[in-house]
Amino acid sequence: MNIMPPAEDLARSPGGKCPDGKSSPDTVLIAEDDPIFRRVLQTWLQKWNYRVTALDDGADAWHALQQDDCPQMAILDWMMPGLDGIEICRRIRRLKKGPYKYVLLLTAKGGKEDVVAGLDAGADDYLTKPFDVNELRARVRAGKRILELQDALMKAHSELQFEAAHDHLTGLWNRGAIMDLLHRETQRSARIGEPLGVIMADLDHFKQINDSYGHPTGDAVLQEVAHRLLESVRNYDYVGRYGGEEFLIVLAECAPSDLIVTAERMRTYVSEKPFDTNSGSIPVTISIGVAAQRLLGSELRREEELVRAADTALYCAKANGRNRVEQAPGICPGDSARTAAGQQ
Ligand SMILES: [Mg+2]
Repeated sequence: MNIMPPAEDLARSPGGKCPDGKSSPDTVLIAEDDPIFRRVLQTWLQKWNYRVTALDDGADAWHALQQDDCPQMAILDWMMPGLDGIEICRRIRRLKKGPYKYVLLLTAKGGKEDVVAGLDAGADDYLTKPFDVNELRARVRAGKRILELQDALMKAHSELQFEAAHDHLTGLWNRGAIMDLLHRETQRSARIGEPLGVIMADLDHFKQINDSYGHPTGDAVLQEVAHRLLESVRNYDYVGRYGGEEFLIVLAECAPSDLIVTAERMRTYVSEKPFDTNSGSIPVTISIGVAAQRLLGSELRREEELVRAADTALYCAKANGRNRVEQAPGICPGDSARTAAGQQ
């Protein structure tokens, strides 16, 4: 199952979000060409604490309803210049993006056939002019209830999507999600011919930290490492928790030389300042292995191969003394598992 949201919704930092920021169930667009009815509607709705946009033309209303932060509820007159209310209803329902819009059709027509035509076109409800104010209030309130329910469902969906893709402790992408992202970026880098880098980072002697200070402190150390890793990368890189104390970082469109620089920046940032925990100040280091997608004339590496190459380089970093960066063969022309940087 692919649990990832669309690419444009992805962010490296935690924070599931609803797709619509400004609009809310108490925002209403009125499209009515009769100035008296428009004024009456606007006055009453504002009195009931709705945020109102009032227009006198169907084409302007349709334009407004296509904006990202448009009102969620629309009260549309049937007969208007530009576009009539029925046509706007049809167009709203053909729109695939954005949250559901609740449409109340306002009409002087009261025949059953007209009502059916209005509902068939996509209206949720209708009101016949001249309308009773209490009826208007009740019908608008019913629409608001539906929009509030929709908002609650979208929020719950967004939270579930966030939880399914993120590590509970650190807020980073979890293993399934970071591998999905790596798969996506591997395909994309092949398509556009841009380099792709993978960094595997592992805490040094993490078991000793857990054994000496206890698991709550170990968890706090993992959280701080996650924070420092995020601070070391560009805001469009992906940082994931790959395993217990192992992290996988995916860097799209990253030149090999920048990949090495980034890895070294991560290592330095984690090790240069001891971690301030409830158990006192703890020095922490990480070992890092890096691998890059080889492009232009060489065979495309699958994501599993990239991870394996980075993991092998990480193993070398551990074997060579820890707190260092090692790179997999092939990052730079003629390279063969040479040390990029390191200290011990
Ligand atoms: Mg009219």
